[in-house]
Amino acid sequence: MIALQEWVFASPIRDTWLYELLVPGRTGLLPWLIGIAGGLFIGIAAYRKRALTGSGAAAAAVLGALLYAVGSLVWFAALIAFFASSTTFSLWKKHLRKAAEESYEKNGTRDAWQVAANGLPGSVLCVLYSIWPHPILLAGFLGVMAAVNADTWATEIGGLSRRGPRFILTGKPVPAGTSGGITALGSAASAAGALFIGGCAAVCLYLVPESGMRTEAVELVGLAAAAFAGGLVGSFTDSLLGATVQRMYRCTVCGRSVERITHCNQPAVLARGIVWMNNDAVNIISSMVGGAVAALVGFLLLP
Ligand SMILES: [Zn+2]
Repeated sequence: MIALQEWVFASPIRDTWLYELLVPGRTGLLPWLIGIAGGLFIGIAAYRKRALTGSGAAAAAVLGALLYAVGSLVWFAALIAFFASSTTFSLWKKHLRKAAEESYEKNGTRDAWQVAANGLPGSVLCVLYSIWPHPILLAGFLGVMAAVNADTWATEIGGLSRRGPRFILTGKPVPAGTSGGITALGSAASAAGALFIGGCAAVCLYLVPESGMRTEAVELVGLAAAAFAGGLVGSFTDSLLGATVQRMYRCTVCGRSVERITHCNQPAVLARGIVWMNNDAVNIISSMVGGAVAALVGFLLLP
């Protein structure tokens, strides 16, 4: 690691207008205006693609503005990377995933609650970082985003698996869309989704160093590795909670186990799990586990 540590990058866009634009002053309205414009852009794009509801798009815009104005490019970029990639994947071969999606609690369109569930832990870390700028808080944030992204990629890409999912606890085959069901394809997608956030963050920090960071190779690699580890563990936690404590209903008509309160136009009955532990609760808990793991890995790896 010593050789890596001495390897300090210089941003290739330093002294250009792009750099000035991407690093707004820490005071004044400009960072907020850029953040709101960027947040609205992704919110509206996702709304038009039906990846977000109207309330979800508004929440995404607020979240984007906060991450850019209170945080910086790398915080904002992690959010964009998540929205852009998950929106793309959720539209990709959508018709092939119909069977699995019918059992989910909500359809692919995220509402404000889901955006908040995915964005709240990250926003808190961003505000804390603005008060106490320590790299482990950034690592924790990247872990949260990596966990959310890994889980989304696993769901969207794993849903296309030709081999049916197996239950994470027993290895027995389960119907597509069952919480706690995993496939090899989904697990690979989860790892790729975690790595994607870590990679995007490293590229952003290379272009525009976080104030106080020297953009050493060890920091870029350390943060990417922390995000990767957090994303993997967070996504695994999501499957584990989905297999154990997440509430599941049983359809009284077709007998399938589903996340929705109604199925086949009839109310379904609670089959297992804790009654308040819905999909949003599982998401928020597993993304926080991902953040904690990334912060720990960041603590061990970062100088
Ligand atoms: Zn049914």
